[in-house]
Amino acid sequence: MTQPVFRFAPSPNGRLHLGHAYSALLNERFARALGGRLLLRIEDIDVTRCLPDYIAAAESDLAWLGLTWERPVRRQSGHFGAYRAVLDGLRARGLVYPCFCTRRGIAEAAAAHEHATGERWPRDPDGSPLYPGTCRALAPGEAARRIAAGEPHAWRLSSPAALAAAPGPFSYRRFDEALRQETVPADPARWGDVVLARKEIPTSYHLSVVHDDAAQGITHVVRGGDLEAATDLHVLLQRLLGLPTPLYHHHGLVPDEAGRKLAKSLGSRPLAELRAEGVTPDAVRARLGFAPP
Ligand code: GLU
Repeated sequence: MTQPVFRFAPSPNGRLHLGHAYSALLNERFARALGGRLLLRIEDIDVTRCLPDYIAAAESDLAWLGLTWERPVRRQSGHFGAYRAVLDGLRARGLVYPCFCTRRGIAEAAAAHEHATGERWPRDPDGSPLYPGTCRALAPGEAARRIAAGEPHAWRLSSPAALAAAPGPFSYRRFDEALRQETVPADPARWGDVVLARKEIPTSYHLSVVHDDAAQGITHVVRGGDLEAATDLHVLLQRLLGLPTPLYHHHGLVPDEAGRKLAKSLGSRPLAELRAEGVTPDAVRARLGFAPP
């Protein structure tokens, strides 16, 4: 049996809040229970929004909470070359294509279709209109010319090509608070042709998270329920890239000390604010249902 490896992976585009604290503490609790390691990964691929000050502040907030993690800390912004290599590999296999459509153009096409037909345009689990695949049919010469001319573009996974290269069925194993495991079916097709990189950011959350979980040997992913649907897509990417699929636990809203669900506004209260008010780390832990370190 290999030693379990957990990670807490915040995107430092603001201060950490109680919701982050809950996720980090839950990772710690599971890691302790299984005699595992805990890593911190800074998901700062959006270099326009992820500021160095937020990274330093996140580490300081986590240390204040009494968390410890292994060093060095992986920062995704230091690994763009690795993500680009993954994208190049998918491109060489005909699994991604450049897309010049704007988000606005896609939304407008969906709205026009809905208006004309009265039928709802399909949406991905995040609520965005599914990409109709327009640029999949572009002639390679035309696409190359537009890229060379500096036109903004995204790299999309061709869902039909990907599902032909890695046929389903898809599933993954999830575990609950009591560490009981079960198999969950996954349906990556509901994401359609997702964006895996953009001209200005040579990776996406989906691509880098799947790459890094494997690169860091993560065995157990503990993260918010808002990312549960994305796991369906991650399983497809893992299959395409020949990477292992970790076990997953998606947690819900932060409960308060009475076991009720914390209001969203409370879950999003910055830890720094609580610190400034004189709230102790042990009080934060207690409120979130965790024992002192
Ligand atoms: N960086 C993501 C976030 O802060 C979490 C990614 C993950 O845990 O897979 O929402």
